[in-house]
Amino acid sequence: MTELTPCPCGRADARGQGLAFDACCGRYLDHDTPAPDAESLMRSRYSAFVLGRTDHLSASWHPSTRHADLDLEPGVKWLGLEVKRHRVIDADHAEVEFVARSRTGGRGHRLHETSRFVREGGRWFYLDGDLK
Ligand SMILES: [Zn+2]
Repeated sequence: MTELTPCPCGRADARGQGLAFDACCGRYLDHDTPAPDAESLMRSRYSAFVLGRTDHLSASWHPSTRHADLDLEPGVKWLGLEVKRHRVIDADHAEVEFVARSRTGGRGHRLHETSRFVREGGRWFYLDGDLK
């Protein structure tokens, strides 16, 4: 990925311009920078799905709920992410509601989930989620 590759998560800056991967989720995937909030972590996990980065999916998943075998479904093309709501519950708990669109073998799929996140030792982790 080059510096100017748009971030898969689609986050835009204040002027509505899509952020580059290096200025967005790349900081959390390629460097050991902790995501500053649950939404940023959630976005970086979406980007990790797009890029097939199971290392990041695993590292950002809380050990109590993490799947031991993290296999990405082959042939999924991720089309876009829309973050609908970022609810801060307290300093160490937050929820993010999102819609992620994908396509598998010509069939469109829409994943609508409210994910729960916890912060431990200064790092946010994905805990679990409810499908809508
Ligand atoms: Zn991003």
